[in-house]
Amino acid sequence: MATVYLDHAATTPPDPAVLAAMRPYQEDRFGNPSSLHAAGRAARAAVEAAREQVAGALGCDPLEVLFTSGGTEADNQAVKGIAWAAREAGRGGHLVTTAIEHHAVIESAEWLAGHAGFEVTVVPVGADGVVDAERLLAAVRDDTALVSVMAANNEIGTLQPLADIGPALADRGVPLHTDAVQAFGRVPLDLDGWGAGALALSAHKFNGPKGVGVLVLRRDLAATPVLHGGGQERGVRSGTLNTAGIVGCGRAAALAAARLPDEAPRLAALRDRLLDGLLAVDGVTLNGSRRRRLPHNAHVAVAGCDGEALLCALDAGGVAASTGSACQSGAASPSHVLTAVGAPQDRAHIRLTCGRTTTPADIDRAVDVFTDSVNRLRDAGGGFV
Ligand code: PLP
Repeated sequence: MATVYLDHAATTPPDPAVLAAMRPYQEDRFGNPSSLHAAGRAARAAVEAAREQVAGALGCDPLEVLFTSGGTEADNQAVKGIAWAAREAGRGGHLVTTAIEHHAVIESAEWLAGHAGFEVTVVPVGADGVVDAERLLAAVRDDTALVSVMAANNEIGTLQPLADIGPALADRGVPLHTDAVQAFGRVPLDLDGWGAGALALSAHKFNGPKGVGVLVLRRDLAATPVLHGGGQERGVRSGTLNTAGIVGCGRAAALAAARLPDEAPRLAALRDRLLDGLLAVDGVTLNGSRRRRLPHNAHVAVAGCDGEALLCALDAGGVAASTGSACQSGAASPSHVLTAVGAPQDRAHIRLTCGRTTTPADIDRAVDVFTDSVNRLRDAGGGFV
């Protein structure tokens, strides 16, 4: 029986239309988009078409779309670059972020604190994984150079109240960066309503290729480059453009935006069916908010079971899931997100995330395998080491 893949927050299967669009740029259309000859111009045209597709999907100006090597680089460039430029412009050296950001944001901020004299305020979240907008805004000071709040969390799927945060920051002239890597293609993104100055995406999270991402950088927002070199991408992100990846990213973004109105409720119905099944098992509770939640994310705590043992049992039963976050798989300690929401450490924490390829039959099978795995593991003592 085929594996039921429920780890779409870790990565998604590339869409066949995306692969088909990319292929010519990995074969005969190999020109460098910076070259002036015909092969270069053909590649450049493809890159600019992809830029327009991403801009169209996000409702921004194509000039504001910068291609990167992924979400990690987009977050690094946003946090380090905007903070650096703001301080140079005399704005100050203070950053505000939340306790559940992706490591790409948290560690960029920590790097600035450790190596460049910035001060960082990390605002806690509630037990539901949602940051309180007033509390966050109260942390902003006259010398705040940047606020970074993710649109949606990659582990517990919580959606942050950006509409209550961004406009208030804009009134104070403080830029907002948001990591929308998990949110794009799953919930509508409202760049204007959020007053976001910068936003990060990663193509492999929306059925595009790995190794390509997007930094939306508003035209009026300065960012010092992190990568120096040939001055591509408005001089902010040097490096020969990954034409095939960018073409795939553009195609995937257009598809995700077009599908969103149907896909979001379809995913939410699958997630609810999944959550109902998981929570019907004794000693299983929800992590994160039920209401403010990505439509594809189920994340549960399971009493009486070890996380890795349960993950292995699910895998053996043909269900691909994740404990905590795949970005740090192999780490035995609880993730910073689960710690921030006060999740009990003596139980398994399992994330199951649906996607384009998920069917109701997949959900029913996953619930059966989960129920059986939990019962068998508990009978055997929980699998604790
Ligand atoms: N931000 C979030 C919220 C993510 O979930 C991830 C990947 O898991 C990233 C950033 C990093 O993106 P990439 O894998 O493209 O480097």
